Amino acid sequence: MKTIVVDPGHGGNDRANRGYSGKYIEADGNLQFALFLHYYLKDYFNVILTRKEDKTLSLTERGKMAKGADMFLSAHSDAWEKESNGVTIFDSVDLSNETLGAEIGKAIADSMGIKFKGVRERESQKNKGEDYYTVIDVAQDIGCPVVLLLERGFHSNPHEEQLLLNNNIVRESAKAVAEKIKAYYGVSESAETKEITQPIWKYQGLEYLAKNGLLNDLENWKKKIDEPMPVWASGILLAEIHKNLKGE
Ligand SMILES: [Zn+2]
Repeated sequence: MKTIVVDPGHGGNDRANRGYSGKYIEADGNLQFALFLHYYLKDYFNVILTRKEDKTLSLTERGKMAKGADMFLSAHSDAWEKESNGVTIFDSVDLSNETLGAEIGKAIADSMGIKFKGVRERESQKNKGEDYYTVIDVAQDIGCPVVLLLERGFHSNPHEEQLLLNNNIVRESAKAVAEKIKAYYGVSESAETKEITQPIWKYQGLEYLAKNGLLNDLENWKKKIDEPMPVWASGILLAEIHKNLKGE
């Protein structure tokens, strides 16, 4: 089984990157995307996340986690001027993953309905022959053969910030990227087949919530049984339970 490391950029002490309106926080957006990607890949690959929560990690620590892995993907969103837009993929100057990078970039851009700007390589000016981006440089130097950094649209662009804040679009992006990775490694089973392999207690959990009026749309939830629950949803759920306990 291939090993794929997914690195949600930023987090912990590094939460300053925000969208045009200030609502989008890049650290959280990257994590959300990475959690969805993990969900769509985990039945087919050994998937390692550099972080699963809001946590400080250096670029070197992240890159080193690519040791022994077959693929390393660092998830980001871009920032420049208000008008800047589109998806850009960065490949290592020492590797040739342009074809896969373009597939992944197009998949993200299409899922968001925005422009794909292409696969780029950026060489360090200080250290010629090395990558400008530390995380790419370290992951490549440690021997990982496929290293890509994904700039999933511009959070500095008002329209693209809204797309990056849309949970459904982020999920669709992750799903589309997972399909490209599966195709790259020749893994052909559809994501739908895994539903029947889920242990029964997962469904029992959902059914309990539905029976007690804490969950609508049971059938839909069964289809996305392992998806992470956003913090706000946990809050609503706990508030409902609290209300029931108090008999309101
Ligand atoms: Zn970033």
